Amino acid sequence: MFRGVLWLLAGRGCVGRGLSTRSGGSTPDWTEKVSEIKKKIQSALPGGPWDPLYDTSHLPPEHSDVVIVGGGVLGLSVAYWLKRLEKPRGAIKVLVVDRDHTYSQASTGLSVGGIRVDFLRNINEYLAVVDDPPLDVQFNPSGYLLLASEKGAAIMESNVKVQRQEGAKVCLMSPEQLQNKFPWINTDGVALASYGLEGEGWFDPWCLLQGLRRKIQSLGVLFCQGEVTRFSMSSSRMQTSSGKEMTLKRIHEVHVKMDHSLEYQPVECALVINAAGAWSGQVAELAGIGKGPPGTLEGTKLPVEPRKRYVYFWHCPEGPGLETPFMADTSGAYFRREGLGHNYLGGCSPTEEEEPDPGNLEVDHDFFQDKVWPHLAHRVPAFQSLKVRSAWAGYYDYNTFDQNGVVGPHPLVVNMYFATGFSGHGLQQAPAVGRSTASL
Ligand SMILES: Cc1cc2nc3c(=O)[nH]c(=O)nc-3n(C[C@H](O)[C@H](O)[C@H](O)COP(=O)(O)OP(=O)(O)OC[C@H]3O[C@@H](n4cnc5c(N)ncnc54)[C@H](O)[C@@H]3O)c2cc1C
Repeated sequence: MFRGVLWLLAGRGCVGRGLSTRSGGSTPDWTEKVSEIKKKIQSALPGGPWDPLYDTSHLPPEHSDVVIVGGGVLGLSVAYWLKRLEKPRGAIKVLVVDRDHTYSQASTGLSVGGIRVDFLRNINEYLAVVDDPPLDVQFNPSGYLLLASEKGAAIMESNVKVQRQEGAKVCLMSPEQLQNKFPWINTDGVALASYGLEGEGWFDPWCLLQGLRRKIQSLGVLFCQGEVTRFSMSSSRMQTSSGKEMTLKRIHEVHVKMDHSLEYQPVECALVINAAGAWSGQVAELAGIGKGPPGTLEGTKLPVEPRKRYVYFWHCPEGPGLETPFMADTSGAYFRREGLGHNYLGGCSPTEEEEPDPGNLEVDHDFFQDKVWPHLAHRVPAFQSLKVRSAWAGYYDYNTFDQNGVVGPHPLVVNMYFATGFSGHGLQQAPAVGRSTASL
């Protein structure tokens, strides 16, 4: 608070890496005021060498070995694993740059927190910070229940086979078994169901984000609020084994535009991690990715873009109880329980033709009436009497190619690594992807 007041007194244009004025010199009036303010500060904070008029703590450092663009769950997970795996301790300088420290549009905070591989039970083994209270991410164990129609049954069967081979405790259920286990479900049109028996559920993504932030700060990761707007790069020509000429690029500096300012700060670096979520396609473009002729490697864009998704929160006194799984219907509509008071949240992804304008995060309430509720009420007849209480929208970090994550280095911009494009399942993949990206 005190810092904030002084910042205003000093005037934004005066505080940079050092104190300067636009006309190139200080007026006597100004010098006097500055010295008066300094005296007041010194009397308020005796003994401290800190001088807020020259405070540069909001600025990024001039050098960082790794710059991570995006401080959502993916960016923070990469930062965590970089520090955790580094040898010797303190070997790597890591900077996370995010343009919005409130995360108002970040997917992480706006998601519904579902996970199919439980990495949370031992979370304090990873994220505990000495002298701080243990992290409680409000994990609610509960299986995923996926329903398949006749058309989708064979794919479900083969998916479950792979999941079991990998050690997941998942079972298949016939419509009769489904009816016995969850009598409140209408099994019309269901040919097969898969149900997770352990390690699945949901949690509070905001708590995980804050826990990761706290931990990586304690490990020495630096944060900066600002927008990455440009990269300084160099190019070199090389020939492939087939004799084709290629241009390889390397990023030398990341330009960070400071919040509420036209100023930018260059940060010299060795590696850049593009973890900008739904906006990572735009960040890739800043490095020239996709700017070459169409149909070439140089002209191939990172296929990640923001896609708006709605989440509705409703109450239904007659709705299913404590045993409610995270259910996804044959239609694509899904829901889960929220708390213990017969509250639920859910939604449905639109078809390609129905994709809403991603220009804002306004909620379309008709979408629930027309596209979500009819499916929910058909599958769970008790939901015919539900009442929507609130709703929000968030962006999927949508990979238009195959709706899966893009992980690893770019073939032409050799020091830009991706950890993005998870299209609705990035939360649960963040710990593993952070670790594998950090190991590359
Ligand atoms: C409605 C909804 C429900 C979901 N449900 C689930 C679920 O149940 N389970 C699951 O696993 N996943 C779910 N997801 C997906 C999951 O939330 C995302 O895949 C994941 O959070 C992506 O994390 P991220 O760190 O890549 O992106 P984000 O959390 O969006 O973080 C990216 C950050 O990059 C910053 N940024 C962007 N551009 C720049 C720039 N130029 N300079 C500086 N900073 C920049 C942004 O400010 C942002 O904070 C859901 C998503 C939504 C929207």
